Amino acid sequence: MVIRSINLETVCGVTSTLPVNDKPEVAFAGKSNVGKSSLINTLMNRKAYARISATPGKTQTINFYNINDELYLVDLPGYGYARVSEKEKEQWGKMIERYLHSSKQLKAVFLLIDIRHDPSANDKMMYRWVVEQGYQPVIIATKLDKIKRSQVQKHVKMIKEGLALVPGTKVIPFSSATKQGKDEIWELIENECFG
Ligand code: GDP
Repeated sequence: MVIRSINLETVCGVTSTLPVNDKPEVAFAGKSNVGKSSLINTLMNRKAYARISATPGKTQTINFYNINDELYLVDLPGYGYARVSEKEKEQWGKMIERYLHSSKQLKAVFLLIDIRHDPSANDKMMYRWVVEQGYQPVIIATKLDKIKRSQVQKHVKMIKEGLALVPGTKVIPFSSATKQGKDEIWELIENECFG
């Protein structure tokens, strides 16, 4: 994908009305600190356009990045902050659910999982949730550069088993440090949006 323009067009808070877009959307979910902002920046060829650094309790918003006036990358709020209240967790859940339910343009959901670790209870919940909303998420196994190449297949298997992935679900190892996986993710996005 040749990036000609990017624009953080809409930022939605808990009570915001979600935008009705006429272009395809792909959404990214994952627990805080998994590398979601870094991935989105890598896809946009930017260093720090998407907010990096997970400060606990940072504002939970859904951000819509308009790419080339052709499609939207949708950054869903990160989950798993230890220090947020039950009320905030509930609001977070409702906001994501509302989006997954109401978007008419959502073509694909990417769920980010740290390649080093077994999926957490929150990851499992998020996976089941996305599936229940009728989407088959693509898994992006982040921070690929943090493990040895010889360990990659073992860790991918761990993620597949940990999430009990529907057979055939894609798992794409990715590193924002080396950009490995970037082209494959863009190819998938373009196929889902325009294929
Ligand atoms: P977010 O909370 O999911 O948006 O995560 P960030 O993108 O802010 O990343 C959290 C931390 O992990 C930051 O310190 C990043 O520099 C680091 N990080 C993210 N992706 C990678 C990666 O692919 N490799 C390495 N080594 N570090 C990463």
